[in-house]
Formats: sequence, C-alpha cells, structure tokens
Amino acid sequence: MIREQKIEITLTTLAPLHIGGRDNPLTGMENAVAKIGERLVIPGPSLKGALRHQLERYLIDTYYDAQNHRWPKQHLAMQPCMASAGNVSEEEYALIQAGKYRLTSDGGRDRSGCAYPSSFGICPICYLLGAQGLTGFLRIPFLEADQLPDGLYSGRVDRSKGTIAHGTNRPYELVREGTAFRGTLTILLNDDMRGWTFGQPRRLDGTRTPDRWLESGEWSEQRIRKELIIERLRAISDIGGYRSKGFGQVQIQARE
Ligand SMILES: [Zn+2]
Repeated sequence: MIREQKIEITLTTLAPLHIGGRDNPLTGMENAVAKIGERLVIPGPSLKGALRHQLERYLIDTYYDAQNHRWPKQHLAMQPCMASAGNVSEEEYALIQAGKYRLTSDGGRDRSGCAYPSSFGICPICYLLGAQGLTGFLRIPFLEADQLPDGLYSGRVDRSKGTIAHGTNRPYELVREGTAFRGTLTILLNDDMRGWTFGQPRRLDGTRTPDRWLESGEWSEQRIRKELIIERLRAISDIGGYRSKGFGQVQIQARE
C-alpha cells in the first residue's frame, strides 16, 4: 500500500515572470513562456530547482561554520550536494573547497552529486528530491495558472536602464504580475512494497542506509515537513529568467 500527503501550493507573481517554453514557428514568437495546451504553467523542474536552491541556502546558513570556513564534522550528513552528475566548474570547486557543498567522487573524479550506492550517504535534499539512481519522497507538480495566455504581454529588457520597454523587436513573452498558479505537491509517506517511510532512513538491499542524516534521530517526520518542505517553499521569492532585471518575483503559499 502507498500512503501520500498533499500540499496545496499557490504561487502569485509579484513582478513580470518569464519561464521559457518552446519558440513557436507558427506565430513567430520567440522567447515564449511555458504553456501546456492553452494554459500557462510553471514547469515542475523550475519549481524543483527553486526549492533545491532554497534548501541549499538553508542548510548552509544553518550548519556551515563561516568563521572557520568549514563544514562542522558532527553535521557532515547535513551537507548539501550540488546535484551535478558531471564535472564541477572552477567556481563550483571553490565552493566545495570552502566546505559549503559535498565532494563526492566517481572513479576518482571530483563531483558534487549524491548517487546510490555510495559510501557517503545521500544529502537531505536528495532524500526529498531524488538522487541519481534513487527516487525521492517528494513529487513536484507543474503549477497551472487560472488565466489563459491572452493575459500575456511582450516586453524587452532595456539593458541600459534595467527596465522593460514595450513594442520593440525580439520581445520576451511575459506573464503579468498578479497571476496565480496552483498545483499539488505530494509527499510519499509510506510505501509498503519498498518498505519506505517518510522521515525514516531507508534500508536498501540489506546494506547500510544511504540516509545517514536521519540516523541521529533529530529529524521527525513533522520537523522535516515544516522546516524542509513548507517553510522552504514559502521562502522561494523568485523564479524564472531575467531575475537580475527584477523579473520573476513571486510569493508562495503552501498549505497542508
Ligand atoms: Zn545530494
């Protein structure tokens, strides 16, 4: 049997929003926003990326020893990875060297992404959102707007002023501020078949659990839900493209 819990999410745009969809050769619209059929959407991967970013920041703010530029040994299991399967860039490597993100290795090459099986265990973010080779406990939805795309308008970023100019060439399609998107996030609470329980370390193939961070017993199901899911969703303040230009500011409500 599978038991799940639903979290209702409402995202309201506080500024013009652009999350890229496919260019449409029929209308000649380039830089179109994401839609499914006639509905505006915020794709699941975009929301997942924003949640992951919030979780990384939260874990680093909470546990990182900024004074000594290192991750405290007693909280190693809480250290986030960068969720990258490939080689890390120089910039990323600097963050790993500073101890903010996990160093994992793959055949002797430096990586920063949890994988299973591994000797390091899996970070709390990958526990929730999934890691390579192992699904997570959250299913992140596509959020759908109640408005049809005729609420859209075009703008262009004036690079000198950092504002939106109208009626120019090569416009960006934008979602208006005040648009509400809704969707339902699902937490997997129990999967009897696999023997998984939300908030408990998973036992896989009788080997040591990859979920070391839960072995301390400090994280109850309620605490994870509040601190790592609901509050982190609510903390998302921007999403999508051109954020340095003031686009993409949002407010998120999350209700159990
Ligand atoms: Zn990870």
